[in-house]
Amino acid sequence: MKLLASLALFFVLVLAETAKGASSLYDYDERLSKIARETLWQAADEGRAIRRGRVESVGVRCYRDQETFESVFEDRFGVRANRVIAYYAGGRDIHLRPSTCENVRLFFDGPNTVRTAGAYGVLLHEALHRQGLRDERLTTCFANEAVRWGTRFYGGSEAKALRARNRALTFTRVYAPSSYRTSKPNCLALTRRTEWVRYARLGSRP
Ligand SMILES: [Zn+2]
Repeated sequence: MKLLASLALFFVLVLAETAKGASSLYDYDERLSKIARETLWQAADEGRAIRRGRVESVGVRCYRDQETFESVFEDRFGVRANRVIAYYAGGRDIHLRPSTCENVRLFFDGPNTVRTAGAYGVLLHEALHRQGLRDERLTTCFANEAVRWGTRFYGGSEAKALRARNRALTFTRVYAPSSYRTSKPNCLALTRRTEWVRYARLGSRP
């Protein structure tokens, strides 16, 4: 009994330590996780190209502040993070600056701007890496197009959804390196022809 009690205490302490360690650097945003997954499901031919449960879940880490985001990245990869907007490093989690998380929340609370729609595109870009997409141009293009379908799914009009998609494309044009960019006509031609699912490496779940 005593041993069991000690073991139980041990696990509680370890869990408490883990939770404390995580929360001092970042918080998981469950709302953004749900938005990312539902949006990708909708973006695949409005839910017809993939079953909802086959879209891999995403842990959205919103770092406490910009400095924490940068120091965690720099400790991990040994290179400067000042130009890194967000990243995926394997597993379930994606890593976002607090400003990006805040701008996605703002997008869903009203303002549809280059910055807020662009942040939504960034969330989806990293969530697509979680689905197994590797090529940065393809990932960015599918992410920006997904902004349209997510906006519709969450109640936006077709006009609002197209504006948001176009603003996400503008964000990429202004802020992303050229190796991430596709021209608008090429991106739209691609997304008319095929779905992100074709490029994913999904888990074996049915
Ligand atoms: Zn990427």
